[in-house]
Amino acid sequence: MPICSRLIPGGERLEHAFLRRAALSRPDVTAEDAARLFSDHYGLAGQIAELGSQQDRNYRIDTAKGRFVLKICRADYATVELEAQNAALRHIAGKANSPRVPKVIAANNGADILFVTVRNANYQIRLLDYIGGQPLTRRKHLPAVTVAALGALGGRLALALADFTHPGLSRDLQWDLRNAEPVVSHLLPAVRDADRKQRIGQAMDAAMRRLSVLKPEFRQQAIHHDITDDNVVSLPNDSGQLIPDGVIDFGDVIHGWLVADLAVTCASLLHHADGDPVIILPAIKAFHAVFPLNEAELRALWPLIVARAAVLVASSEQQIALDPDNGYVSGNIDHERLIFDVAVSVPLAMMEIAILRAVGQLGDQDVITGERLLPEIDVSGIAVIALNTQSDLFDGVAWLQPGLEDQLLRDASRENNAVSTRYGEYRLTRTVLLSPQPAPTCALCVDLLLPAGISVSAPFGGILKFTDGGLILLGRDAALHLTGIDALPGPDDFIHPGQPLGLVKRTAGDANVLRVQLCRAKDIAPPPFVSPDHAAAWMVLCPSPAKLLGFDCDAPMPQSASLLSRRQSHFAKPQKNYYETPPQIERGLREHMVDVEGRAYLDMVNNVTILGHGHPRLADAVHRQWQRLNTNSRFHYASVAEFSERLAALAPERLDTVFLVNSGSEANDLALRLAWAASGARNTLCLLEGYHGWSVASDAVSTSIADNPQALTTRPDWVHPVMSPNTYRGPFRGAGSTAGYIEAVMPVLEKLDRDGEGLAGFICECVYGNAGGLPLPAGYLKDIYALVRARGGVCIADEVQVGYGRLGHHFWGFEEQGVVPDIITIAKGMGNGHPLGAVITTKAIADALEKEGYFFSSAGGSPVSSVVGMAVLDIMRDEKLQENACVVGDHLKRRLQALGQRFPLVGAVHGMGLYLGLEFVRDRETLAPATAETAAICDRLLQLGVIMQPTGDYLNVLKIKPPLCLSQESADFFADMLERVLSDGW
Ligand code: PMP
Repeated sequence: MPICSRLIPGGERLEHAFLRRAALSRPDVTAEDAARLFSDHYGLAGQIAELGSQQDRNYRIDTAKGRFVLKICRADYATVELEAQNAALRHIAGKANSPRVPKVIAANNGADILFVTVRNANYQIRLLDYIGGQPLTRRKHLPAVTVAALGALGGRLALALADFTHPGLSRDLQWDLRNAEPVVSHLLPAVRDADRKQRIGQAMDAAMRRLSVLKPEFRQQAIHHDITDDNVVSLPNDSGQLIPDGVIDFGDVIHGWLVADLAVTCASLLHHADGDPVIILPAIKAFHAVFPLNEAELRALWPLIVARAAVLVASSEQQIALDPDNGYVSGNIDHERLIFDVAVSVPLAMMEIAILRAVGQLGDQDVITGERLLPEIDVSGIAVIALNTQSDLFDGVAWLQPGLEDQLLRDASRENNAVSTRYGEYRLTRTVLLSPQPAPTCALCVDLLLPAGISVSAPFGGILKFTDGGLILLGRDAALHLTGIDALPGPDDFIHPGQPLGLVKRTAGDANVLRVQLCRAKDIAPPPFVSPDHAAAWMVLCPSPAKLLGFDCDAPMPQSASLLSRRQSHFAKPQKNYYETPPQIERGLREHMVDVEGRAYLDMVNNVTILGHGHPRLADAVHRQWQRLNTNSRFHYASVAEFSERLAALAPERLDTVFLVNSGSEANDLALRLAWAASGARNTLCLLEGYHGWSVASDAVSTSIADNPQALTTRPDWVHPVMSPNTYRGPFRGAGSTAGYIEAVMPVLEKLDRDGEGLAGFICECVYGNAGGLPLPAGYLKDIYALVRARGGVCIADEVQVGYGRLGHHFWGFEEQGVVPDIITIAKGMGNGHPLGAVITTKAIADALEKEGYFFSSAGGSPVSSVVGMAVLDIMRDEKLQENACVVGDHLKRRLQALGQRFPLVGAVHGMGLYLGLEFVRDRETLAPATAETAAICDRLLQLGVIMQPTGDYLNVLKIKPPLCLSQESADFFADMLERVLSDGW
């Protein structure tokens, strides 16, 4: 607690206390004085450091026996309160499952508290042992695990103190939330900024009104009353997230409201909230699970948090007004202002519902019913349109264009004279791209396009109020908010049920839209749209107007969780999904994806969708071809001939023969069979840390332990993995490592030579995609291809991930190494997600397969697949996507490298173009992979609107391989969000 004022009992307690606080100076005890005190009274000697304190003076000492803290306060401080603190610490330490707290260490004479004199001034001193760990204060972002752990910690401490009593707990304390009202009234006159003063006053009044009816139910007991981000100590978990498990600074321990303890904790979280108060909910849930709160306490939590925020900000504002140069206060004031601003950013009623919901204690609410709002309208003729992510209305439409909602309403009104939107719908039209916060997409209102002049009637009785754009009917159970209406009665009139309220307003272009919204809280102006995280609570507060409208205007709720469990019941388990709680994504646009709540994500991993999502030209081409013909390549049609010709033209000259299949696995499988057929041998070399597919042969040469933990022990005997030429973390590093890696291949080749079984070939990615986009050492492939060819083997370049323009600087990965392979395999991007794969090789190698019969793949090279393949090539050319990968990729790489200058966790940035890998390490010397951190960073990036996943054998590399249409703005958004995660925490 920054300021600890002890109020003087009796008389003008508060008044005295504030004056006293301003006048009190901190004990004048230097480090040398402290060293003497340590040695004289505790027999301790060691290194001394001062710890911060607003009013007391604290010194830490490091000794051979351990670390201790000497707490020095003024002699006139009530000793019984110090005794209470010590007794509380001992009491907690004696309880099972209580948090870590400091131990009280007696002085040489056996006393816990000593009275000492330093340069003629008298003090009281105590010694505590020092409990290690980090506070939460410096982490700007606190993840839900940390927030929940803090709540649980508070619950455990409150439980441990539940049966603690001590005479020193009955004290007057500025921070006691039972005193919040007089404290704020006292401080407010000194606040200079009139606007802030008014806001504090108003917030306090509203909070106090709500508390007054709940107070009688509050339980009282011994509470710490200052369990904040600053007063807990935490240890990092595997992912580097802080888990608080100890509590310090018992200076505010008091007999007070149990719920106030949690309110203080929650308020301290609000400056870590990024403006979103719902981040406190995991703390409340966790506290409640340990120490259940009663209903009144739960309902009181948010008003108490507002009161705490008001006390904090009013104290600092008053202090800064009195003492503008006080660095300590000015250092804290931004935090406190932020806490207050977040606390008042949402109505009390909304947070009350959110809290009750979070702990499963929100009962059913009454449905708001009444007379028909639109008595002249035949509701059976109303067309209800869907504006959610899955709505057909957005297919082939630029759904972010301004004015689209009105246009869709007008389009629908051509066939129906009334059209309605849906309540509770997450509108795609409200999606915001490249936003760290989810946009307010959820409609708490219903918009109706109606003939102008239609009568609108009062569904229930109430007082009429006029607002800027419309009117409010304040009924008994709810307020009805209407815009787009010309009111008939006057303001403040009492309106009877069924009485006309007004007529639908005529607007330019006949967009006569009546907006209807209900709100149970009558003293707020509810927002018409809220963000998905707030929607559930707001929908309780602003219920559906369906009963008043007389037709079903409720949007179906997304069923993402139950869909996921359906998927898990029937979709085979080895087929994993990204993320533990994945968003349900149902639409895409260029490099963006949108979930069913209208949350947009920047897709930074979709190496398959090179053109981007929802490409209209590709969709048209596919649609046209499906209408005409789809069959197999044993028929004669133009597209298969044309596509094969175009693929051959993309490859180096002698690779002029094409097989068309459906995936990368198939392409690699076929390539291996071709190598076997062409060489007459079977032994195949591949790289460790590689992935080539799931089919039997392509899996056999896949050695990545991230994909298959058993990969290294289960390779069939024809597979001969060689050392991974990983120039970042392999045994040979950086430039000049080529010879080492080639040397490492020699024993394998020499053994094959000795056995005399021959060598079929060698397969690898020419830029090491699976390891995170590392380039191979210079000249590596030249050497190894020569060694393989000298033994009659065939060189296969797996270009499934890195080829086809993604590298920007090269169309093919092998160009980077200056070699030409004998077989190229491609898939992924060549179909933009349509199942398409190809093998491009020489006529001689292709012909070698003839002896095994003919080759046929039912859908490989079908008319639809060939048309897709050609459309992808056309679009890549016309939209200059390889050039874009080069320019934007280079820009992005520079931005990511700059992060490496600031954050030691960034070990390296691999790759080129739009195939980049950012490798996280715990230590730049040992290169210990930061695996758990990478997973947590990916989860945090998802919250900030970025889809990113780990790759590499240690899953510690961000695989950055977005659609090739990635704009520079999107690349910057990704770099900004990553920077934010690295600096604010994850
Ligand atoms: N080769 C490489 C380098 C790959 O990355 C992959 C897929 N990740 C494949 C082959 C297999 O491709 P598919 O999933 O299309 O079968």
